[in-house]
Amino acid sequence: MSDKRTITIARGDGIGPEIMDATLKILEHAGAQFEPEFIDIGEKVYLNGNTSGIPNEAWVSLRRNKVFLKGPITTPQGGGYKSLNVTIRKTLGLFANVRPNISYAQFIKTKHPNMDLVIIRENEEDLYAGIEHQQTPEVVQCLKLITRPGSEKIVRYAFEYARKNNRKKVTCFTKDNIMKLTDGLFHKVFKEISEEYPDIETEHWIIDIGMAKIADTPQDFDVIVMPNLYGDIASDVAAQITGSVGLAGSANIGDQFALFEAIHGSAPDIAGKGIANPSGLLHGAIMMLVHIGQPDVATKIHNAWFKTLEDGVHTGDIAKGGSSVGTNEFAEAVIERLGQLPTTVTPVEYKLTEPSDESSFSMSPAVKDREKPDVVRELDGVDIFLCNNEQTSEEIGEALEAVAGPEFSLAVITNRGVKVYPNGFPETFTTDHWRCRFQINAAQKTITNQDIISLLGRVQKAGLDFIKIENLYRFNGERGYSLGQGQ
Ligand code: NAD
Repeated sequence: MSDKRTITIARGDGIGPEIMDATLKILEHAGAQFEPEFIDIGEKVYLNGNTSGIPNEAWVSLRRNKVFLKGPITTPQGGGYKSLNVTIRKTLGLFANVRPNISYAQFIKTKHPNMDLVIIRENEEDLYAGIEHQQTPEVVQCLKLITRPGSEKIVRYAFEYARKNNRKKVTCFTKDNIMKLTDGLFHKVFKEISEEYPDIETEHWIIDIGMAKIADTPQDFDVIVMPNLYGDIASDVAAQITGSVGLAGSANIGDQFALFEAIHGSAPDIAGKGIANPSGLLHGAIMMLVHIGQPDVATKIHNAWFKTLEDGVHTGDIAKGGSSVGTNEFAEAVIERLGQLPTTVTPVEYKLTEPSDESSFSMSPAVKDREKPDVVRELDGVDIFLCNNEQTSEEIGEALEAVAGPEFSLAVITNRGVKVYPNGFPETFTTDHWRCRFQINAAQKTITNQDIISLLGRVQKAGLDFIKIENLYRFNGERGYSLGQGQ
């Protein structure tokens, strides 16, 4: 029996099989030591009626081997199919998505010749929690979940990554001027953890201007850490401006598992044509080789890849109208150059990282086993959400004032977050979705969930249709909910 490390491999959909075959051929010729174990996931599995896109035997392989090289997967539109990529990342706890973006102006056309940045994207939380509901005929919602342990983990990972890779600065992107609680927590954690890394420069940008800066002056950035959705968008922008989205690889790292892939998707528009650039997946595989303790093989492949581009062997996406080669010819050209070094860029040299294939993060304890934070949580009121397309804000307000009872007073009604009662403006556009805020009465010392249940009973009796509630808490005396716009 072979003592080589077994790696789970999925060829993927669309261009996946073409770029995976090219990548594996290069790895084999470079002398990479691993045993591939292929699994079938994605489109075929979805279309066979498994809406998760992944069969049980694939999970068994992943859990046994712990390292996964994955081709891109098509998520079928509609039909209730969940993204398999998101399922795998979250199920295996792959909390960090590491996406290096480097420009090579010597041989790839780019407006940004000095770009060398790494995006560290939080990979499990945010709007990708995938918790969505239609609440009324007119309104749907998606819950944005940001957690303290999740933010601490990814921010610490970004600083550790910077230290290990001799990077000088970590930038944080959020939109905490608008989302003061969710993005506010991420930014707060960033500030707290940055104090443990005085050797590393830090800065924060609001995501919109930050993204504009990536597009304009990417050379100003080094490592950038951000919540999931922003990271998804920013890393495609960053990859594209290096010359092609087909160039960048990514590592998805967790406490126990690691997944390596290209950042791009399955490119159905060019699938089967043999013209896709395999470089993104190859870079994912290079990161995998370093992760499993084969930095010498990673170095050999990366330098041969440099030399191939330097010699003018380009796939169509970067040749941009010039002469180009197909996927397979490109792979052959890299294989021919294994052992050679580039002359116009500094060759890379990967080092063994310690420990070679474990992340430096030990497995997170379950919530019941974690240290309990010293937090006093007090109930302050409740937001009751109504579905109503028959009454005005004034009429709803008056009906609710009448049922508030001695425990509560109706503080405000908002519609899409903006105040419409009391003293709303007739010009404000409203939908059928009303958020009605009841706050504890000044004379009342405490309220309980039972008081809320009684209030709900009175609201229902008044003929109003509630669709959800959200309790309002203070944590250590600090308000744990946002005010309504105009409240
Ligand atoms: P895409 O990245 O597949 O393609 C965007 C554009 O870039 C296309 O014009 C494509 O031809 C080009 N392109 C992408 N990779 C290339 C390569 N290696 N060489 C040359 N050109 C390349 O994005 P999309 O079209 O939005 O998504 C297609 C499918 O991929 C969707 O089903 C999506 O859900 C899925 N997807 C999967 C992953 C993943 O598996 N990690 C990531 C993103 C999108």
